[in-house]
Amino acid sequence: MNLFGASLDELATLATQAGEPAYRGKQAADWLYRHHVTTPAAMANLPAALRVEWESKHDLISPRQIEASTSTDGTKKYIWEAFGGDVFESALIPEGDRLTLCVSSQAGCKIGCKFCLTARKGLRQQLSPAEILGQLRDLPERDHVTNIVYMGMGEPLDNTDAVLASIRVLTSEWGYGWSARRITVSSVGILPDLERLLDETDVNVAISLHAARREDRLPLVPSENRYPIASIVDLLRYRAELALPPFTGAGRRRLSFEITMLDGVTDRPEQAAAVRDLIQGIPSRVNLIPWNPFPGTSFNSSSRSSILAYQSVLKRAGIVTTIRESRGQDIGAACGLLAGAQMTRTTAATSNPAPRSL
Ligand code: SF4
Repeated sequence: MNLFGASLDELATLATQAGEPAYRGKQAADWLYRHHVTTPAAMANLPAALRVEWESKHDLISPRQIEASTSTDGTKKYIWEAFGGDVFESALIPEGDRLTLCVSSQAGCKIGCKFCLTARKGLRQQLSPAEILGQLRDLPERDHVTNIVYMGMGEPLDNTDAVLASIRVLTSEWGYGWSARRITVSSVGILPDLERLLDETDVNVAISLHAARREDRLPLVPSENRYPIASIVDLLRYRAELALPPFTGAGRRRLSFEITMLDGVTDRPEQAAAVRDLIQGIPSRVNLIPWNPFPGTSFNSSSRSSILAYQSVLKRAGIVTTIRESRGQDIGAACGLLAGAQMTRTTAATSNPAPRSL
């Protein structure tokens, strides 16, 4: 198995299977997640025989970084090679005193949102905990990252086991020791998995809402067919009304609704009113995301005046509504533009590793 990304329990089990006490697992976790070692041989306080056994039996690998580029606005895009040979991307976004890392949870995505470039790849590969965590560990800026958002390529709740495992490593005291409040998972709303995320973690949640009415949302987000937004919002309202932890108290998790602003498709005033009526009373905020265009679609970005008019409908109802500024557009790192290329190990190893754009 891959030691990187393993939980404390898994490491303790591996230690006991090798005839060592379980506390060796905690020592191994320290080496992995505090000291960032890349080989079992470097785990200096483990017995030599255990290190030799782990060297021969297990991997300790993370994805290979293929390329990094920097936008004129300071946003960086990193391209990684997944263990299966496909590629995926992360974006690093500086904003004031925050440095937000946007990680991918899949190479590609099968949800098929009509306005998303990643959707065109289809699902190429699920990412393992190591491939998710490697996007943080192997960054030159690792120690300066303040926030992590699962908003890169893929639907996190279509790869729930790996996403939850990566969150456990990020937030456990034996792992990276991050506060869950610095982590946000974005999802179109895969109902059973959303419940798991709410039950098993305290992270912030961002629901990709886009439109409140089924007839508006279904043509954009195919998962609406199986998991209607009305049911997703019912679940969130129910948990908020019952004040189920951590929807209660000063340190409660943050819930947001994301709306991609598409001219004439999602940005009409009556659609803003429908969103207002849907989420009214749920402690949350709305983020309006200007759509970043790419070739081959019939969509257009909303005008600034339409976005402001939409915002004013929600603000009048007392709903905190922010307009996200587009970042990293010139390097394809902006929201909805992380698409990677269908590279193989062979093409990734050529002298010109730049990915083909789709
Ligand atoms: S918007 Fe998100 S869920 Fe929808 S296709 Fe793109 S990556 Fe997948």
